[in-house]
Amino acid sequence: MPAFPDAAREAVADTRLRGNLAHATGTIRERRAAAVAELDDWDALRESGKQIKDHVLANLGHYLRRLEEKVTEAGGTVHWARDAAEANRIVADLVKATGESEVVKVKSMATQETGLNEALAEEGIAAYETDLAELIVQLGHDRPSHILVPAIHRNRSDIRDIFRREMPDAPEGLTDAPADLAEAARRHLRAKFLSAKVAVSGVNFAVADTGTLVVLESEGNGRMCLTLPETLISVMGVEKIVPSMRDLEVFLQLLPRSSTAERMNPYTSTWTGVHPGDGPRDFHLVLLDNGRTETLADEVGRQALRCIRCSACLNVCPVYERAGGHAYGSPYPGPIGAILSPQIRGIGSDVDASLPYASSLCGACFEACPVAIDIPEVLVHLRARAVEDGPRHPVERAAMTAAGWTLRSPARLALAQRLASASRRIVAPRGRIRRLPGPLNAWTETRDAPAPPAESFRAWWARTDGGRTEPRAPEDGTDDGTDGRTEEGQ
Ligand code: SF4
Repeated sequence: MPAFPDAAREAVADTRLRGNLAHATGTIRERRAAAVAELDDWDALRESGKQIKDHVLANLGHYLRRLEEKVTEAGGTVHWARDAAEANRIVADLVKATGESEVVKVKSMATQETGLNEALAEEGIAAYETDLAELIVQLGHDRPSHILVPAIHRNRSDIRDIFRREMPDAPEGLTDAPADLAEAARRHLRAKFLSAKVAVSGVNFAVADTGTLVVLESEGNGRMCLTLPETLISVMGVEKIVPSMRDLEVFLQLLPRSSTAERMNPYTSTWTGVHPGDGPRDFHLVLLDNGRTETLADEVGRQALRCIRCSACLNVCPVYERAGGHAYGSPYPGPIGAILSPQIRGIGSDVDASLPYASSLCGACFEACPVAIDIPEVLVHLRARAVEDGPRHPVERAAMTAAGWTLRSPARLALAQRLASASRRIVAPRGRIRRLPGPLNAWTETRDAPAPPAESFRAWWARTDGGRTEPRAPEDGTDDGTDGRTEEGQ
């Protein structure tokens, strides 16, 4: 994947895409603000959510063992996956053991993170997404661009064209009316629900005290997948635990209002192991680490593991609204993607090293986050890590080496400052630098650089005794009547 600025360039230039994004995020933003404003105790709920998550993260080993014990007692089987490849291997083997070659899926960020659909396809197993937006993405051979609304970059006519082209049982003359599109998807999916023997789901929350798993959704497709098939395999990031049912109560208020702006989502499915004559006969829970343990070890970065995937931070982010989700090169776009992906994947690639910079640091994401993740704080922290550990351009490396050599000697620094001041009329004849040469142009591509000052602070201090004597013109004759500031700074 290219670095974020390169990947975002095309999206930023696509006015239709920007229109779709601005309309969709603006609508969700307004509805969410109204839903949150209904609760007098929103701030207290938010603080509770934060504290519960922090408590779980501080005692993660304990709660994971308790969850395993309770799920096993209830007749389920728990599997542990160190990374994406191991999780995919476990799921593929479980499906193959049933003799089936098809699975239905409930929308799941964890399996997008592991690339499960592609891994299953390599084993000859077809995975069918059943969430409407995920179905649109899958049929369009596309990638999700939003956590909650994966096809947010598509409009109605795009979706009609995809259904006509890729859905074998799409009705003749399908229109782009929302009701017609929904009906076409419903008929298409119903056949899958009724024939599937295996389902794969994600998990919103897992209650350690009881071994109960919880999925929140709006369309009913999740309920079908969680109850009809004979075998259910759920893949869950290890951080999704809450200690008790009482704690779940907090998140069942925070998540629907923050994500879909509903007081309560239409379908909340909970299940605990297996029960004869009711639901799947075989249940497997795959606990996924995939970089979460390393993230937990970072005192600043670990707060990203509080995330409940509501997507509120995406909808308020001015960068996401313009760049869309694909530029983040990860299943987790927007502000949460900018802090989560570089931590769970490591900061070694161009895209992961660029993600902490995909923000104006305006702080809207922190304000919106229902579990109070200080996303700007983590972004700044990761920028420092990207400088230390990330890939660096050879020109930047050479410039930093030269700067280090200069700054280590007061004499060299003074000489460099005198040279810069002397060159200001050549490099910045109109008081600012409009274009730097070569790769340095990356700096001036979108903004002017200030001209070097006529006199350095150290020279000014020496000349005026720290401002105590009457100022006079600098001796090098470079004073042009300004005080060294650029026009923008005046
Ligand atoms: S970081 Fe906060 S606002 Fe963003 S998706 Fe996660 S919980 Fe929601």
